[in-house]
Amino acid sequence: MNTATQTTLKQSRGIERLVQGVATSDGAGVNLTRVLTGKLHRRLDPFLMLDAFASDDPNDYIAGFPDHPHRGFETITYMLAGRMRHRDSAGHEGLLENGGMQWMIAGRGAIHSEMPEQEDGVMEGFQLWLNLPASNKMAAPWYKDFPANEIPEYTTAEGVTVRVIAGSSNGVAAAMTREVTEPVYLDIHLPAGTQLSTALPTTHNAFVYVYRGAVQVGDEQVDAQRMGILSNTAEADGVTIVAKEAARLILVAGKPLNEPIVQYGPFVMNTQEEIHQALDDYRSGRLA
Ligand code: FE
Repeated sequence: MNTATQTTLKQSRGIERLVQGVATSDGAGVNLTRVLTGKLHRRLDPFLMLDAFASDDPNDYIAGFPDHPHRGFETITYMLAGRMRHRDSAGHEGLLENGGMQWMIAGRGAIHSEMPEQEDGVMEGFQLWLNLPASNKMAAPWYKDFPANEIPEYTTAEGVTVRVIAGSSNGVAAAMTREVTEPVYLDIHLPAGTQLSTALPTTHNAFVYVYRGAVQVGDEQVDAQRMGILSNTAEADGVTIVAKEAARLILVAGKPLNEPIVQYGPFVMNTQEEIHQALDDYRSGRLA
C-alpha cells in the first residue's frame, strides 16, 4: 500500500455522454450487462467491449464460458468477487479470484474456457476488450494472472483507494503496461465526501463506469450501472471525480488506433478478408 500526493490538474475533463448497458447473455448462458457495444467502437477506440457481471444467483453465471476462440485483440478480466478458472490452448491454466486480474493477448489466436469455480455466492467483475494495432494482431498469444496482492494500490490523505490495474496514476505504476494503446485502468473507491484527481493523456479516449453509489464529474452526475464517456478536451490534463456519497468505479483510458475495425464475434481484425481467414483457420484447427 502506498500513499500518493494527488496531481493538481489545470482542467478536468467533463462527461460527454451517459450510457446505459444492455442486458444480454453470452457464453453458455451467462447473464451480464454489455456496457460498451459495437456502436462505441469508433468513439472509444481502442476499446471494443466492456461487460459487467454482478450476481449472487448461480443461474446467472454457472454455465460459464466453455471453449471459444479469440483473435486480434486483448482481454482484461477483473474480478471483484468470485472464482473463475481459465484454461487455454497454449496449456495455460489459472484461477482468477477476488480482486485479481487476468490479462490475455489473444494475438493470432487462442482457444480458452472461463468457467466459474463456485456453486453459490457472488460473482462480480468486468471483462474489457482492448484492440491490437494491425501490426500486432497476429502476434503470439500471451497471458498472465495477477492475483490481488500483485495489483499496486495507493490511498490518498482523504482515504480514497485506487487500484492501478494498467498504466499509472498519481505516480503509482501498474503491474501491466502496454505499448501503442497505452491503456490506463483504475478501480477507484471513494468514501463519502471525497474526490480524486488523476492525470490522463490528452490523446486518450476515456470513460468511467460506476458500480456503487454515484459520482460527479464536472456538472454531471454518473449513477451506478452507468458509463460516463469523458469528453476529449485539448486543455484538460486529467479528470476529477467527486463523491458526495461513497462510490466505486472503474476509469479506463487508451490511445486510439484509428485503424479499420471489422468484428465477427470473437475475431476483431482490420478487413473482411482477415475475418474469413480467422474463421477458416478456426474451422480447420489452425487458429491455435
Ligand atoms: Fe474469452
